[in-house]
Amino acid sequence: MLLQDLKPLTRAPLIDPFGRKISYLRISVTDRCDFRCVYCMSEHMQFLPRQELLTLEELDRIASAFVARGTRKLRLTGGEPLVRRDIMQLFRTLSRHLETGALEELTLTTNGSLLSKYAQELADYGVKRINVSLDTLDPDKFREITRRGDLKVVLDGIAAARRVGMRVKINAVALKGVNDDEIEQLMLWSHGLGMDLTLIEVMPMGEIEAGRVDQYLPLSVVRSRLMDRYTLIDDPYRTGGPARYVRVKETGGLVGFITPLTHNFCESCNRVRLTCTGTLYMCLGQEDAADLRAAVRGSMDDTALFQAMDEAIARKPKGHDFIIDRRQSKPAVGRHMSVTGG
Ligand code: SAM
Ligand code: SF4
Repeated sequence: MLLQDLKPLTRAPLIDPFGRKISYLRISVTDRCDFRCVYCMSEHMQFLPRQELLTLEELDRIASAFVARGTRKLRLTGGEPLVRRDIMQLFRTLSRHLETGALEELTLTTNGSLLSKYAQELADYGVKRINVSLDTLDPDKFREITRRGDLKVVLDGIAAARRVGMRVKINAVALKGVNDDEIEQLMLWSHGLGMDLTLIEVMPMGEIEAGRVDQYLPLSVVRSRLMDRYTLIDDPYRTGGPARYVRVKETGGLVGFITPLTHNFCESCNRVRLTCTGTLYMCLGQEDAADLRAAVRGSMDDTALFQAMDEAIARKPKGHDFIIDRRQSKPAVGRHMSVTGG
């Protein structure tokens, strides 16, 4: 029997020990970023040496192996995905899976700073919906949070994406004493432009300067404040991730709540995360990981890669154990969000 005759057998969908089908891969294509958001990075981040990164071809190969094993949705993230050199090449090559129908969605999460430059190309490569992170509409506060971002550039980027027909979802991290007085305004602005808004609770990842316990604002508080003025109707929309949605009757838009610390969302988890060095994290909230770089570099044939993927998925844990400990401010997970991309 020829080796290729065996391949269909190894291409069975990836299903973890708890019966969850892995259909969603997030890839952090770089740990670098042009911003230094206070909750995400320290002012002086040590970035990875470039030689440790997977090449764009290697990233494509791993992503394509996941697509062959049932991944239907790919999200590129970072760091800031659009700062990686020649990143459009990766979008271009991955778009072939959209054309064959093997992939349902190719998308990205971005801070929006380079969207004006890339919106048209992204649309050309089949990117239809994107997430843009934006925590405030106040230019001074924006600079404080991002330490170096320019709000106008991001708003122009969002406008450029909308002009080329992409649907934009806004992601905002809820920060106590920083943007808690602005959530309603962010919602009205987003919904006014036909964009949904997802609110995220601060997660304890990586050492940063500011005490995360101080930044932590439970979304239950935000939600009940919104309920004082708006009618929130539970919405069945699900992505397989931690977000739960409500439809705001008065605006018609959706508000998502990502509350990994206060709710358990793991039973429907359909995703894994690949870093730019080829490390696969099976859970955002756990340290266990698998090295796919060795498998990719060891052979041009995908057999070893498929085997490494199978072994990794067999270890996907049932759930995370995030806690923001109010006595000691150590992060629950040592790596920064910019490593796994959130
Ligand atoms: N640079 C891109 C961006 O900002 O959209 C993509 C990467 S960023 C790490 C992905 C998302 O994670 C952003 O929405 C960001 O606000 C969020 N994030 C970063 N650090 C976080 C933390 N400690 N807790 C909760 N969300 C965080
Ligand atoms: Fe960069 Fe995104 Fe992290 Fe902000 S949240 S520092 S934009 S990676």
